Amino acid sequence: MSKRCEKSASKSTGRRNSGNEAFGRKKVIEALRLYNQALQSAPHLSPEFFLALGNRSAALRDLNKLKECAEDIDRVLEAQESSTIPTSTLERLRARRSEVLSQLHVKEEDDRATESAPQLFIGCNPSVPSLSKAVDIRFSKEKGRHLIANRKLAKGSVVIVEDPYAKVLLPHCALSHCHFCCRELPLNHLPCTTCIEEVNFCNEQCRDEALLKFHSIECGNVEKLNNIGLGYLAVRLVLCSDVDQLIEYDLASDRVKSMQRVFGSSPADVYSSSDFRSVASLESHDDDGETASNEEVELTAVKLTRFLRENGYFSSARCWPANISTKEQDVIVVRALVGLVRRLICNAHAVTKVVDSLPYTTDETESQEVLDRNEVYIASGLFPTTSLANHSCIPNLFSRYRFDTFF
Ligand SMILES: [Zn+2]
Ligand SMILES: [Zn+2]
Repeated sequence: MSKRCEKSASKSTGRRNSGNEAFGRKKVIEALRLYNQALQSAPHLSPEFFLALGNRSAALRDLNKLKECAEDIDRVLEAQESSTIPTSTLERLRARRSEVLSQLHVKEEDDRATESAPQLFIGCNPSVPSLSKAVDIRFSKEKGRHLIANRKLAKGSVVIVEDPYAKVLLPHCALSHCHFCCRELPLNHLPCTTCIEEVNFCNEQCRDEALLKFHSIECGNVEKLNNIGLGYLAVRLVLCSDVDQLIEYDLASDRVKSMQRVFGSSPADVYSSSDFRSVASLESHDDDGETASNEEVELTAVKLTRFLRENGYFSSARCWPANISTKEQDVIVVRALVGLVRRLICNAHAVTKVVDSLPYTTDETESQEVLDRNEVYIASGLFPTTSLANHSCIPNLFSRYRFDTFF
């Protein structure tokens, strides 16, 4: 059975009851985990969905997460479907909301939203918005396309600030990070409306944008897609691209080959990180045999195109022109996926996050807590401007991420 069809009111009730039992034993974290499972299992907007939200609000209040608690209660009270909830439960939720709001004297700031983005050194290059004005894209026969400073740069100058063209959250972060924006999940996060996969979103906005842009096609198949590595990111790139551009910029055409390695090095080209032409122009090593065999990549592309067809990608909502036959659609997408996988092999970046690892003890230093800082991978993404910075054994660029923004 597809994981799209496995929502179950009775499963949700069972998990909510287990949550209530843990809550009664003052095991609030365990109760929160079980209420999240109840929410994930509940058919979207069913009475069980709202009851799970209501019970989760009690756990959030006990954890002193007052803002999140009030938000969960508002989700129940503001929904038209809440008329299916017993009046006594609604009254209890209203009382809890008043109690929590009276404690929220100072509105809690969302520090995630207020944290300022890094600023490019002396502003952005008008031809390459993700790049500092102090750096240009150039092309030479010896070096190919490359980045070069056009003035002296002080240590620590920020020369690239770039959002990815597309990104995919890594599976080990599914319970801790948003499937859409890759930020750490708040405690009152939401599951997908349709599937029971480990897919979570910060809030309604992230969930609805993900459904609109890609998740309605991927829904119920995220686990399978995760197993095909870069192929998943290639699918995401296709889903995040306009059909018109996929048709216009056939990645195997001579036109794209002539753009490759050069596009962006002339002041007449605007090299934008959200422009499919920037992706199309990335190095793919098609002719020098450095990447995986064509056969292997083509086979994956054919399977992924079949997957996209079976899951509604070619439906009218994507605006495929009526004069393009089903067979032609398949050919266009197979060629796009082959070209994208080859570009990803050379250009995909791992999005990392610096975390303080949990204190741990060793046999030798029994009670000594050791705090370490580690970079952990949270997503893989394609950053068209960052990809132009080539490797050097004596590097003069260092990378950091703020959420999924490279700088
Ligand atoms: Zn999010
Ligand atoms: Zn889903």
